[in-house]
Amino acid sequence: MSLLSINNLHASVEDHEILKGLSLDVNGGEVHAIMGPNGSGKSTLAGVLAGREDYEITEGSVTFDGQDLLEMAPEERTREGLFLAFQYPVELPGVSTHQFLRTAVNSVRAHRGEGEMSVTDFLKLMRDKAEFVNLDPKLTKRSVNEGFSGGEKKRAEIFQMAMLDPRVAILDETDSGLDIDALRVVSDGVNKLRGEDRAFVLITHYQRLLDYIKPDHVHVLIGGRIVRSGGPELAEELEEKGYDWLLEDAAVAA
Ligand code: ADP
Ligand code: MG
Ligand code: MG
Repeated sequence: MSLLSINNLHASVEDHEILKGLSLDVNGGEVHAIMGPNGSGKSTLAGVLAGREDYEITEGSVTFDGQDLLEMAPEERTREGLFLAFQYPVELPGVSTHQFLRTAVNSVRAHRGEGEMSVTDFLKLMRDKAEFVNLDPKLTKRSVNEGFSGGEKKRAEIFQMAMLDPRVAILDETDSGLDIDALRVVSDGVNKLRGEDRAFVLITHYQRLLDYIKPDHVHVLIGGRIVRSGGPELAEELEEKGYDWLLEDAAVAA
């Protein structure tokens, strides 16, 4: 069984069906890109996987390492090793990055049957990971994302991902208009953290990100379902031709 398995997922917002039978299987070590035009349901998929409350799941299933993901609270998903990065990261005024991550990291460790980290070890881990993703260590002393620039938020997010050591990371980069520096931050981080066991789902409107991160699989999401899957060449084809040529397929499938 795949690490993350989405089967015939239907999800609605306020009685309006947005995901209409989406299926996707992600194995350890794989990088999947999900691309699609605006409004196709990409962020909805990310929100459903994160366990956000705005969505009603009306049909289908999602399993993570064989367990029912949809039954888990958002924090449980994190503990199990799912990491969600968002287009607009939240600010947590008054909560230091140190506090926030120490709680999160220890909760993941406890779940794995590992003991709490000593303060010394934790500070060392923070230093190592900050260096790994080129994050200015000063930022880890401030409140989570408060007053961070767009680029700093991106870097902080990649830093959080490195700290949490997830098994599957989902990044919704859609529409966020990443500048070239932020794009480098994200792609360097993902490329460094890529590994045999860790999988990534990159949700992106633009092909540009995929100039820096070579995905193993590319999927096109239109009208709430995946209408085409392929290798990296599919992203290049989309860059050239846009999405229009696939709209017909989507209409037939609907
Ligand atoms: P994408 O990320 O691919 O641009 P979204 O998942 O954000 O698409 O949105 C898919 C569709 O669902 C859009 O038509 C959008 O207007 C609608 N939608 C998303 N979230 C909500 C919401 N909270 N309330 C009403 N409609 C929503
Ligand atoms: Mg499946
Ligand atoms: Mg979106």
